[in-house]
Amino acid sequence: MTRLDRPFLGDLFASESTVAGRVAGQRLRSVAALMLIVALALSRPLPAPAAPLRAGAAKIDITNLEAGPVNDRLHARALVLQSGDEPLVFVSIDAVAIAEIGSIRNSFLANVRAQVEKELRIPPRGILINASHCHGVVCSDIEQRTVEAIRQAFKNMQPAKVGWGVGHEDRIMENRRLRLKNGREADVRHAYSLPHDEEVESVGPIDPQIGVLRVDHADGRPLAVLYNFACHPIQAAASGGNTADVTGFSSQVIEDNLGDAVVALFVQGCGGDINPVFYKDVDHPRDAEPLGNMLGLSTLKAIRKIATRDTSTRLIQENLELPRADLAQRIDGLLAEQTRLLQSLQGTSLNLKTYLPLAVKYKLNSEFPSYYSHRYLHDRQLGRVDLDKLDADNRRNLEAYTRNIQTMEQLTRLQTNLNLLRKHQMQNLDAGKRTVDVEVSGIRIGNFVMVTFPGELTVQIGLDIKRRSPHPFTFVAGYTNGYIYYAPTADQLRNVGGAQEDSDCILAPEWQALFDAKVDEILARL
Ligand SMILES: [Zn+2]
Repeated sequence: MTRLDRPFLGDLFASESTVAGRVAGQRLRSVAALMLIVALALSRPLPAPAAPLRAGAAKIDITNLEAGPVNDRLHARALVLQSGDEPLVFVSIDAVAIAEIGSIRNSFLANVRAQVEKELRIPPRGILINASHCHGVVCSDIEQRTVEAIRQAFKNMQPAKVGWGVGHEDRIMENRRLRLKNGREADVRHAYSLPHDEEVESVGPIDPQIGVLRVDHADGRPLAVLYNFACHPIQAAASGGNTADVTGFSSQVIEDNLGDAVVALFVQGCGGDINPVFYKDVDHPRDAEPLGNMLGLSTLKAIRKIATRDTSTRLIQENLELPRADLAQRIDGLLAEQTRLLQSLQGTSLNLKTYLPLAVKYKLNSEFPSYYSHRYLHDRQLGRVDLDKLDADNRRNLEAYTRNIQTMEQLTRLQTNLNLLRKHQMQNLDAGKRTVDVEVSGIRIGNFVMVTFPGELTVQIGLDIKRRSPHPFTFVAGYTNGYIYYAPTADQLRNVGGAQEDSDCILAPEWQALFDAKVDEILARL
């Protein structure tokens, strides 16, 4: 194993600033180093390649030109790798999801696989399709264009070498779940108001790691890059036009820097609870491009340090049955809470027109809010309390009105999440069985290891898999080979109804232990 093979542990713990933080950081570093040694000992080498590695890549425009102005183009990118009998096909699509939500139909995955198997003799299990989860609009013939991208990549295959490594990016994203002082959790969405600042106790983690697979031509020129990172690409274009968002820009930056023919495939990671920074900005136009440029440049930094070689590949595909949630009790609880909140609204003599100027006046001068100070002093000299009484009345009304606003904001969150629960409860009842079938795949290319899952995994799940894995270069992709809404941790599911990830979810909390066990088993076999 060369120096280039090691993850940059220093980067991962580079943010401690306090002495306590540094000591904790050193301890973490030695624990991490120990874990790495154990991991290296456990990760078995792959057999020598059965045949020299071959690779091909292609990129096809999938922008919907009928869906209004276009800010930047959406793409389907394909990479085919073959070292033995069975090729591996990676497809990255600038779309919200493979099926269920957005415009890609539920039959998409099966149809693409069937056509590729028929035409190119590639078995369906080796075809992995990841949605970047950007919220752009794709063309209506997305199925044919995806097959065309794979067809071109297959046709482009030639002798290749691969290498793997990690990059680091922590400036462009944040965890969107807020732990509140009342023990509940809320999240950062446009669909509703945030809790007030003083209610927020702490925020969740991010995963700054960029997993990188570099694919070169036999002569060392770059051919393709596959990179994995966890963040919702939903910042939008400042123009408001159709966009591939943060990860469309990052792929473009990588391709522009490595040369025209290079294809950079973004593979969305455990971004379920990760948002772009300044997602709720109201003072500046929200713009995905600078965030994407930063991610692209950080990935390029990692690509430059990666050495490539011939290697073999391995694929394990498993089906898993996960338990569906029964949300009836939680829905009843939220309905009761909704009634309680509605009944807590108290009438005041104010409306918005009188509330706003009063709120400013009482903020500007709390001692003499209603008139100049001399009038207050004059009245006090004569023993009058008229102004003091006026202020007391206004303050009482201001407080009641502010409480009403907070209750209204709380109701916007409750109602939105309640609607999600009702939708998924109906879906779960209509499903006809209490479980949902998902595909979990494990891929190994040299020492580059990736596991995939259809749901929107939250970031802690990915961080824990990486920590437990016997392979030092383990990466996790959600949003792959189907879509089953959010897949938060069992712990986050104690907050059902409080945030999108735990409400826009069809799974019972027991799903996580089943998934983790399956992933651990796959990782041990890879
Ligand atoms: Zn999402």
